[in-house]
Amino acid sequence: MINANDPSLTSWIETAANSDFPIQNLPFGIFKTQSSSPRIGVAIGDQVLDLAIMNKLGFFDKIKIDNSVFTNQYLNDFIALGKQTTSGVRDRISQLLQTGNPELRDNKEAQAKVLHYQSNVQMLMPVKVGDYTDFYSSIDHATNVGTMFRDPNNALLPNWKHLPVGYHGRASSITISGTNFHRPKGQTKPNEAEPPVYGPCRLLDFELETAFIIGKETQLGESISTANADEHIFGMVLFNDWSARDIQTWEYVPLGPFLAKNFASTISPWVVTLEALEPFRTVGYTQEPKVLPYLEYSGDRNIDINLDVLIQPENTEETLVSHSNYKFMYWTMEQQLAHHTVNGCNMNIGDMLASGTISGPTPDSFGSMLEITWRGTKPVKMKDGSERKFINDNDTVIMRGYCQKDGVRIGFGECKAKVLPAK
Ligand code: MN
Repeated sequence: MINANDPSLTSWIETAANSDFPIQNLPFGIFKTQSSSPRIGVAIGDQVLDLAIMNKLGFFDKIKIDNSVFTNQYLNDFIALGKQTTSGVRDRISQLLQTGNPELRDNKEAQAKVLHYQSNVQMLMPVKVGDYTDFYSSIDHATNVGTMFRDPNNALLPNWKHLPVGYHGRASSITISGTNFHRPKGQTKPNEAEPPVYGPCRLLDFELETAFIIGKETQLGESISTANADEHIFGMVLFNDWSARDIQTWEYVPLGPFLAKNFASTISPWVVTLEALEPFRTVGYTQEPKVLPYLEYSGDRNIDINLDVLIQPENTEETLVSHSNYKFMYWTMEQQLAHHTVNGCNMNIGDMLASGTISGPTPDSFGSMLEITWRGTKPVKMKDGSERKFINDNDTVIMRGYCQKDGVRIGFGECKAKVLPAK
């Protein structure tokens, strides 16, 4: 076992029992304070550890990393150091934060320089995303959509169980949690018999997803096997793949989603490393028919990540609208990466590959309003008494995710954004 994951570890920094960031997590992010420039931080409890100052003070002396890697606007250069190094940094931080270690615990002067309350810092985009891909890998989601729009008896298209279906998305509009955006406008065709119209999207939806971040590049022509895929995955974030359903319906044939998806995607700020997620690996769906050899994998490669979606109308409390789990994915990250590169497509550090909407088998675990309200036919009640078929102006959509096992709970923090009225 990776020592930093040991469930018995405790920290001298107190972490609440329901905290996303106990010592077993130690996710990486980019933050700034009112007086500091962007830099790499690690979350612990309700605080952030400033790695740039930690390095300057000599706490990482044995690892030897140029400080410019830490005083950086993005994690890309840090990730590029390789897993041995980044994992070494996580292990070293774990060591320093453990209850019995006096190095930082008894150095109040250093603590004052390296620790900030999360409530006092601003989180920024963790990585510079070069390319973004979105998959369609949840069998319950694909079945729901196929049932609604095509044929309940042939809900999955013939290719679906043979390859992880995906499309190339747009990286420029991926934003950090807390970045609000205006309802998109575009072409829709509300009336079958009439020509299309232009105006604000009427059927705005969220898609509950996670995304993984590429941690090791490949050259054009190279492929990544399922067995080696984890070496190329740095970590994961929560991902809201906002979708304009009415724009999508009109535009998506024959080349798939375009403007219905590229106006905004929201991610959670902390990158939870694959190392931290390792203890929560679990078995996935049986893949039948058997997949082609390049997609075969061994062991339990799904991950047990509880996922919640909440809607918060303006000035009222949140209402839980979905409780799903990443373990319901049919295709694993390793298979997605093997498939994505089987043709020699190269990967760059910071590339983001999203899961596709994550729905579970029951209606309370569906990952989009499209499915939860079944195309708007079953509106959901908010705590304030109002109803939602899709997302209204000034609604905030919040996603949260956490793993829990052996008394350890590690989480992702929040992925949240508010929909402002169309411009
Ligand atoms: Mn999606």
